[in-house]
Amino acid sequence: MDLKLRDKVAVITGGTVGIGLAVAEGLAAEGVNLVLVGRDTLRGDDAAARIADSFGIIATAISADVATAEGCEAVIKGTARAFGGADILINNAGTGSNETIAEADDAKWQYYWDLHVMAAVRLARGLIPAMKKRGGGVVLHNASICAVQPLWYEPIYNTTKAALMMFSKTLANEVVGDNIRVNTINPGLVLTPDWIKTAKQIAGEDGWQKHLQGVADEAGGMKRFATPEELANFFVFMCSDKASYSTGSTYFVDGGWLKTV
Ligand code: NDP
Repeated sequence: MDLKLRDKVAVITGGTVGIGLAVAEGLAAEGVNLVLVGRDTLRGDDAAARIADSFGIIATAISADVATAEGCEAVIKGTARAFGGADILINNAGTGSNETIAEADDAKWQYYWDLHVMAAVRLARGLIPAMKKRGGGVVLHNASICAVQPLWYEPIYNTTKAALMMFSKTLANEVVGDNIRVNTINPGLVLTPDWIKTAKQIAGEDGWQKHLQGVADEAGGMKRFATPEELANFFVFMCSDKASYSTGSTYFVDGGWLKTV
């Protein structure tokens, strides 16, 4: 199916590995040019070169920490330099946390607020003006099922991802008249290299797969992890005009893990 995305420009934070990388590849397969953002310069440059080569699109990597105002500024300026602006912004960079409310200090709360919420605020403020001039666009926020169904061991993650969902809804209202659609996607369990690394640390080379199956069994529903590509397919669809009536919403891609309607 031609999703009519050819020659659009997408900025993907955390586009260098895991879900973000799969979204980058999915969009590249549709002819979208890319700005891939991550802190690890080598990994970003490698991903951009490989994707450009495989899909015949233009891809550039920007090494930046989006949890800082300077990092977001580097993304905004770098995108303007490379492409004159973007049509698609995917706020995907993020990571789990591990703490109790009793013990976590202010600095930890602030870091996750900056990474999960302020990055989206700053990049919207910086990239939407050019998006408007280009005639419209799409902003997607990768939150998590934890935004509405909290995991006990990561209160900071749950809280900041819930805030990201509300930011997404509010931004959608502000730009609905500018032909810009804004939505949130809440994944469940997605098998990224990071999950595998952590499982190996916990259960060793022989036990990591059993450990992950235990996690999936506990989640219920389909009792399996999604591949990053299964998530990416949904993101790519949401970027296209096939989703032209969707804005201000949250979509769960969680294999049935969500326990409520
Ligand atoms: P990964 O850990 O595999 O990748 C994270 C990406 O974000 C990397 O490219 C990383 O690059 C980048 N990143 C992290 N911190 C920063 C930062 N401060 N500035 C710039 N880039 C940063 O994550 P996943 O693919 O698993 O997750 C992607 C998103 O999906 C996250 O927001 C996560 O919360 C969400 N999610 C994931 C689920 C899962 O099961 N995997 C489930 C639900 C939601 P670098 O390290 O080089 O900076």
